[in-house]
Amino acid sequence: MNANLFERFERSCDDTTRTAITTPTGETVTYADLIALSGRLANVLVGRGVKPGDRVAVQVEKSIPALVLYLATVRAGAVYLPLNTAYTLAELEYFIGDAEPALVVCDLGKREGIARIAATIGGAVETLDARGAGSLMDAAAHSPDAFETVPRAGDDLAAILYTSGTTGRSKGAMLTHDNLVSNALTLKEVWRYTADDVLIHALPIYHTHGLFVASNVTLFSGASMIFLSKFDADEILGLMARATVLMGVPTFYVRLLQHPRLNREATAGMRLFVSGSAPLLAETHREWSARTGYAILERYGMTETNMNTSNPYDGDRVPGAVGLPLPGVSVRVTNPETGQELACDEIGMIEVKGPNVFKGYWRMPEKTASEFRPDGFFITGDLGKLDERGYVHILGRGKDLVITGGFNVYPKEIEDEIDAIPGVFESAVIGVPHKDFGEGVTAVVVRSKEASVDERTILSALDGRLAKFKLPKRVVFVDDLPRNTMGKVQKNVLRERFSDLYMAPARAS
Ligand code: AMP
Repeated sequence: MNANLFERFERSCDDTTRTAITTPTGETVTYADLIALSGRLANVLVGRGVKPGDRVAVQVEKSIPALVLYLATVRAGAVYLPLNTAYTLAELEYFIGDAEPALVVCDLGKREGIARIAATIGGAVETLDARGAGSLMDAAAHSPDAFETVPRAGDDLAAILYTSGTTGRSKGAMLTHDNLVSNALTLKEVWRYTADDVLIHALPIYHTHGLFVASNVTLFSGASMIFLSKFDADEILGLMARATVLMGVPTFYVRLLQHPRLNREATAGMRLFVSGSAPLLAETHREWSARTGYAILERYGMTETNMNTSNPYDGDRVPGAVGLPLPGVSVRVTNPETGQELACDEIGMIEVKGPNVFKGYWRMPEKTASEFRPDGFFITGDLGKLDERGYVHILGRGKDLVITGGFNVYPKEIEDEIDAIPGVFESAVIGVPHKDFGEGVTAVVVRSKEASVDERTILSALDGRLAKFKLPKRVVFVDDLPRNTMGKVQKNVLRERFSDLYMAPARAS
């Protein structure tokens, strides 16, 4: 059997006259249109010399043709490699040099610079802009729809997604056809997706959340999606009357809550709000329930593993927890040093195993070997615990752990306490060099609008609630926390910014 993701998607389409994607500007494509355009684009790829197993690197704005290019690449047996639109030419040089794509598709504005880089590895270049125009679509207009989907085995590569690389070099996570299809079918099942669903798709499509979770689940359900080029609270609220599902990063929900029109009436036609890619504050979860009557469904995944856990569709969606392991996925928590499995409620390294877990890092066999246990579990790098009901709780990335005076401090525990203090909007706890303690626990706090909470108030509110060694040595205030495009707080930026907090004598605690 051909295990190509496209073949399995096409076989799952029982009514190709249904709408697959619409845009607010009036574009509408049916499943039949998608399949036909994917055939034309696959013919163009083959015409440009793309062979099965070759990489097709794509740095373009979000558009319907951009999504179809993903399907076409996979259909041609090649490996789709999406790149964040924010990457500069200097950064692209690394990705192109590392992945050696046979073809790079980019915006016209970057064509010249990219062509120079691609020439060094013998790669071709085509263009595709935000409106879906460019040399790629010009060539597709003269290509036939018919294309025989290239046979692939389940563990052949379908995509390579580079990790965001906030520590060290960005690594290419190799995802197979089976990884992507199994996760799409599992999520379809657990989130009760049907052909009647309409997803508001406001996420970028160069990241696992918008590309695989949102798009694959919709396509494998025969449902439809409204493609927005970016997040816009006003526009999303207006679309809720004709949609059923929203998938977002926590920032989406925080911003929607700031909108005066968010209420039960505006969300009445919706059935599901999903959040992931970064921690959702328990307070946001509770506020959302109070305003709309819906409990946000939080799930947890990563580039390397697709989705691992989800709060239940029926049953308790626990604020601050990322839910239960998905069917077929095993999650355990281990001692980071010994790898020994820990008991429930003990904090350690989260490890996962299942059909969703990637094949390894592109051209980094040693790195791959060091991130897997001999029994096949992947070491996620996330610290957390399993509670007695089996819910997974994430306490932060391992690299964000603060070690002060020899004690481990898990930032999330302190952040939760600080966030509950009146006048605090949000916080990030980091460790920065400290001459006595190695690292000093430091709280970076954003005040709520018009609040005047100060360092002393925060420190006295925490006193008695946390063990002494966990108490921040300093509390500093900022207007906003630095975040990447997926809403993750960039703690590395904060650590850099406050690196001399305890070193400069006048400010030492
Ligand atoms: P990425 O590979 O960019 O998708 O980032 C994956 C990382 O995001 C995970 O390893 C977690 O640290 C974090 N993450 C994803 N979902 C959640 C969530 N629901 N809560 C907390 N952290 C999350």
